[in-house]
Amino acid sequence: MTSTDNATDFDIIIIGAGFGGLAALKELRGRGFNVRVVDAASEVGGTWFWNRYPGLRVDSESRIFCYSTDPELLEEWDWHERFPAQPEVLKYLCHVADRYDLRKDMDLNTRVEAARFDKDSCRWTVMLEGGRSYTCQFLLGATGVLSIPMDPDIPGLDTFKGEWHLTARWPEEQPDFHGKRVGVIGTGATAVQLIPLVAGVAKELVVFQRTPNYVLPARNYPIDAMTSRSTKDNYEALWDMVRENPGGWAFPPAVRKFDEVPPEERERICEAAWEVGSMGLMVTSFADLMTNMEANTFVSDFVRRKIRMQVNDPAVGEILCPKSDNPIGVKRVPLGHQYYEAFNRDNVKLIDVSSNAIERITPDGLQLADGTSHDLDVIIFALGYDAFTGALSRIDIRSTSGESIAERWSEGAVTYQSVAMDGFPNFFMIGGPQIPIANFVPTLEAIAVYLAESLSIMRSKGVKSVEVKPEAVERYVKLMHELTEVTLFREGKRLRSWFQGANKEGKPASPLLHYGGLPMFLEDLAKERTAGFPSYVFQ
Ligand code: NAP
Repeated sequence: MTSTDNATDFDIIIIGAGFGGLAALKELRGRGFNVRVVDAASEVGGTWFWNRYPGLRVDSESRIFCYSTDPELLEEWDWHERFPAQPEVLKYLCHVADRYDLRKDMDLNTRVEAARFDKDSCRWTVMLEGGRSYTCQFLLGATGVLSIPMDPDIPGLDTFKGEWHLTARWPEEQPDFHGKRVGVIGTGATAVQLIPLVAGVAKELVVFQRTPNYVLPARNYPIDAMTSRSTKDNYEALWDMVRENPGGWAFPPAVRKFDEVPPEERERICEAAWEVGSMGLMVTSFADLMTNMEANTFVSDFVRRKIRMQVNDPAVGEILCPKSDNPIGVKRVPLGHQYYEAFNRDNVKLIDVSSNAIERITPDGLQLADGTSHDLDVIIFALGYDAFTGALSRIDIRSTSGESIAERWSEGAVTYQSVAMDGFPNFFMIGGPQIPIANFVPTLEAIAVYLAESLSIMRSKGVKSVEVKPEAVERYVKLMHELTEVTLFREGKRLRSWFQGANKEGKPASPLLHYGGLPMFLEDLAKERTAGFPSYVFQ
């Protein structure tokens, strides 16, 4: 059964038509649920719709940045690059929407404002922008991990005479930077992709860097017919590899511990991984890279040497090198496409604002704490996101005791297996806080399949309402803290990592990711289902 244009009552409403929401719609509808997807954007795609800044590419290999469950879809879709640019990813998601006729069950251009659960009927009422409302038994939040951009709340922005852009809300018509003086604030994965492209057209590009990153070479290449055929012929084994890799990558997991490797071998291992590109260095070098500071320091030093080799001016190279108190991987490692090389251009200037902060935007540009000013025609803000909790906290979804999600997470994110929260019956998340730190597409798809299978089982048992037990949430959150503490990710709070919510002032730092890896997470989900959902109470 599918929903119709006039229907207002559904089995399931999904908020969000990105990778997670589309997977959930496809999986749930395939199991006979009457589903409606609601998204504020005018097209499917989620973050791949809103982000369209120059240089935007996938940081995961395309062959595994796609849905895995339908062999026909895998067979018919051809990726053209190892790391495709945003238009190709959006095209893929539109293809998926069309191929499975998903659009007929969607309200695009529609924002969900609030939702309330009625304990008697065990149904949610979902309030939409403009006064309409829907009802449903189950409400699914698939609002995106990185969907709410950080505000450029630097004083004086309203006085700026030039144009400014947020990377995550980029105009559909690409702005023209020819002949302009452009400033980029931020040097995370977004800016790392954007900078080489802007450098190629702007008259002058000034990059304002607060914290340098370890940028690894992506090593993009076009995918020829033979490579594509070979990938398709081996997909089963490839997906097995992804599900067995802690980071959900198409690499065999690293098994060597740093101490087990003779010192003369270590450099060779790093060199080989560096040549492979992608996240190879992070996931194939040493099994204890994120738990053993000695291993981490070795790899961090290796990358620092590589950075210095790529930058002509030693002083600029030094500013681009992360400091020794910033272990590699604690913050998301960006993949570069001629990133460091951009700083060898005459029209690119790097300004270190680590101890000389941007104080204010002026009508003509911006001014730093020491009074120096930079005249600019354009400012690009690549400031990151209110990750994981941002989007759901902005929707007024209330628990049975009247608590909003924002209130629930006011001291840090709490979930059970990233999918549920006590007090919010019949509400589940796809891409909620505390999913594994892994390639997000296979992770989101696995969660969508898990929820579709679980809700199917519950429906067959006549379940009206399901709610996770508070002790299960407590147990899971404790595990998230323990996994943070035993890994170097514990440093994320000090380093303002979005993994910990520490990039946003006023946001309580708490583990937003599960550092135990994808296989552990998937195994725990499977155990919950096989055991008959012992962590939940049913009505
Ligand atoms: P980000 O990694 O959080 O980086 C934000 C940058 O803005 C940081 O360099 C930060 O400096 C800087 N910043 C913030 N406020 C500032 C201020 N007042 N003054 C100076 N600098 C300031 O955000 P992002 O680059 O958007 O990336 C976020 C995530 O999106 C990535 O980690 C990645 O997971 C994802 N992403 C994925 C892709 C892909 O797969 N293709 C592409 C882009 C992004 P500090 O470090 O000092 O805070």
